[in-house]
This record gives sequence, C-alpha cells and structure tokens, in this order.
Amino acid sequence: MNFIETRGNDGIKPVEVSFSEAILNPSASYGGLYIPKELPKCEDDFFEKHLNSSYKELAYYLLKKFEIDIENELIKNALNLYDKFDDPKNPVPVKKVEENLYISELYHGPTRAFKDMALQPFGYILSALAKKRGENYLILAATSGDTGPATLETFKNKPNIKVACLYPDGGTSDVQRLQMVTEDADNLKVIGIIGDFDDAQSALKNLLNSQIFKNKLKEKGIKLSAANSVNFGRIIFQIIYHFHSYLELVRMGDIKIGDEVYLTVPSGNFGNALGGYYAKKMGLPVKKILIASNENNVLTELIKEGRYDLRGKFLKKTTSPAMDILKSSNVERVLFDKFGSKRTKELMDSLNENDYYELTNEELKELQADFEADFTTDEEIKEYIREYALNKNYLMDPHTATTIKLYEKYKDIKNIAYSTAEWTKFAPTVLNALNKDSKKYRDLEALIEIAKRLRIMIPVVIEELFNKPIVHNSVIEKDRIDEEILKFLDT
Ligand SMILES: *Cc1c(COP(=O)(O)O)cnc(C)c1O
Repeated sequence: MNFIETRGNDGIKPVEVSFSEAILNPSASYGGLYIPKELPKCEDDFFEKHLNSSYKELAYYLLKKFEIDIENELIKNALNLYDKFDDPKNPVPVKKVEENLYISELYHGPTRAFKDMALQPFGYILSALAKKRGENYLILAATSGDTGPATLETFKNKPNIKVACLYPDGGTSDVQRLQMVTEDADNLKVIGIIGDFDDAQSALKNLLNSQIFKNKLKEKGIKLSAANSVNFGRIIFQIIYHFHSYLELVRMGDIKIGDEVYLTVPSGNFGNALGGYYAKKMGLPVKKILIASNENNVLTELIKEGRYDLRGKFLKKTTSPAMDILKSSNVERVLFDKFGSKRTKELMDSLNENDYYELTNEELKELQADFEADFTTDEEIKEYIREYALNKNYLMDPHTATTIKLYEKYKDIKNIAYSTAEWTKFAPTVLNALNKDSKKYRDLEALIEIAKRLRIMIPVVIEELFNKPIVHNSVIEKDRIDEEILKFLDT
C-alpha cells in the first residue's frame, strides 16, 4: 500500500510513496505527514481467528494487512524484539484493576516506557532498509524523556544509522536522563537543550526543513530521517496493542467479541491515541477513545470546544513530562482522515501562523463521535496514585494516573486504560503521592523507599543506571545544535 500526504502534494515530492520511503524520509509536502492511502479492514471472523494468537502472530497479521514493502523475514526479525520484554509470551499484560477498569501495561520493554513498543521493531527495520540501500542516515530525535532512551536503545550499534538526541535539560527525570547520557555507543550523540520540549521539537523540525543543514549532510553522504511519532513506521506498531488488549479481555471471559470498550490514552503527541483511532476504523469495537491530558490541556480544549488555541499559552512543567506538549503532531492525521488534505492544510497553516485554529460545529461533532477528553492536575495525579497504591493494590506512574478521571466518568462499559510508564521512571512523584508531601526526592532515594514500603523490587535495569559512567555531557543553547551535530558526524 502506498502513502499520501496530509497537506496535499506540492508538485515536487512524489504524489505517493511506499512505506519504506515514508519511514526513511518522513517529511511530506508543506510540512505535512504521511498517511496510508486507505486503512485495511478486519474481516468478519478476524477476532475469532486471533483468539489464540500470540502478540507476535497478531502483529505479523496486522502488518501484512497494510501490504507494506518490507520482506516477511525482516518483519519477523523485527517482531522478535518483543522477546526481550519481561514476558516474551505476552509483552503487553492487561490487568483487571476494578470492575470496569483494565490497565494495559505498555512498559515492559528495555527502557520501561511505552515508546519501546514501537521503537524496538521500527529501529530494526529502519537500519536494515538503510543497510540494504547502502545509505547512511542521521536520526534526529527530540524527546521529553521517553522517546530519547527508547530511540538510543533501539539504534545502539545498528549499522548505517547515527542518532542525535535532543532533550530539554531539567525537563526529564533522573532515570530518563541517565538512560540517555549513559548510553555508550559510537553512533549515538545526546544533547541537552536549554529550553523546554517544544523548543527541542521545533529545533528538530527546523533542522529537518533546513536546506543548508541538509547540504552539509549531503557533502558527508548522510541523509536525514526522524524517529519521532510523526514517523508512520512508529504509528503502525501502535495499532497492534489496541487489538491485543481487546483480545485479552475476551480471553479473560470479561467481554464477548463485538462488545464495545473505551480506550483511555495518556496523550502527548497523540501517537498512541491515533493508533487507537486507526484500530477503531479497522474494525476494533471501540465506543470512544478517551484522551487524557495533564495541565497542558490543549487536547481537552480541542475535543470539547473545537479550538486549538496556543495564544498566550505557555508550556507547564508537570509531573508527567512525557505529556508536556502544546503542539500535538499526530492530531493532524485525524484532521486529514476526517476533513481531507485541503482543510488540514488550512487548519495547520493557521496554527503555524496564528497559533490558533477553530473547527466548525459540524467538524467538532465529527471529532466528538470518536473522542472525549479531560485533563488531570498534578495534585489530582498524586491523589490517584496514592489511592490506587494504598487501597486498590495497583501502583501506577503519573502518566498512567491521568486516565483515572476519565475512567470514573466513563465506566458504563469496560474501559481499557493504558499504562505508558513504569513507576520506576517517576519515583520522586510517586513517593510524594504516598507521603502526601512535596519534598524534592532524588530518584534513587525514592526508588529505594517505595520498594521498601510496598515490598516490591526495583528492576535491575533501573538500579544499575546509577552506577554507569556518564558518557554524554553537552548542554547547549538551541541555536548551536546544528554545529554540535555536524561536529559529532565528523568523529
Ligand atoms: C510518549 C509518552 C506519552 C504520550 O504518548 P503520545 O503517543 O505522544 O501521545 C505518554 N506517557 C508516556 C510515559 C510517554 O512516554
């Protein structure tokens, strides 16, 4: 299947590209994104057929339905990376927490957050494609904490790929930062930016669009790519676990095939939620996708009121930093799906020029047919963490906690809420929640204290971070990024 562009075609880029082209060169005309020309549909007996499928079998089947131009062998090898997860037989366990609340845990991979779900197989495929073509790529990643570690982990020592990873200095947890700055491989460069995640992301977008920078790379024989969730190569792996989680509820005997569920998604760049939306369109019985935000509540405003309004808004640093985002990139793909490329370009141009766009009443109704939204404050997040840890025997991280308010509002049918990070990545906030205090704990201190209090183990991969040597030391102004990256490419 081929891929087309959310903002239409500029007459220079090809009108359609293959999957491998779309993932190697993810920037489309007018700054738009690639989307599949059409979504495959699940046949009538799909769910019966896959009742006994393993995660990998299900994934293989769904990927094949997209008719991507990737060899079967390569797809299989990429999916084998799920064997590195805690339970190779089931990389995504789903836990029943309350009568209608099921938490689908997406964090059992090597970096303990949901980014591994897509980046592990995606990194393998991208590197293999680059090698086959004899091309060298630079992957630029902007991270608010979890994309970075997962990107570095997947590309570490992979052929034909170099990674430069930008993170907002002070905008990540100790554990997240250590996961990046201790990642030791010659093909990796980690750079702290003085600024927030949006600064890091827009610096990355500028570089991706900069002809001067691209020319310099060309001289060195290096092409640019991106591993952010704007890359469809990640989205495609984020469709699968929605089907898997649903099937898990069927396997538990808690729903019948065809019963509708809610999917509740802690959202930032909207990749996870978009995967749920695509799954729904492909035939997963989903009543609505519930978009959970933190105090950076632009998505709540969009879905409730039809306005994407950044005027006078500033990014707030919250205790769920992976969701501290104002420009949520993948919303564009939903706009395209519902309103077409002409309208999408109009809306996105308005957002870029005026920090604002507004949907018509009709358009808003269409959006609300699939989505509902709400946001949770830092104080509420702590209350949910505490209540669930102490009274319901379920320990969650601050991102996961943003789903609970939506569950409380939407519990008429089963609600699958996604847990996007392990508690270990945000231990100081979790300890603040348990202790009802706002002391500034160090990550290590908090990890030890929580493990003792709740009689649980700290995973080895987290514990050993604190003894690893730090190999990346740069923290720089954002206008020095290109210079710093070019220097790294020369080494
Ligand atoms: C990336 C991330 C999110 C947000 O996911 P999107 O797909 O960008 O909406 C939420 N929680 C955690 C822990 C994450 O790492």
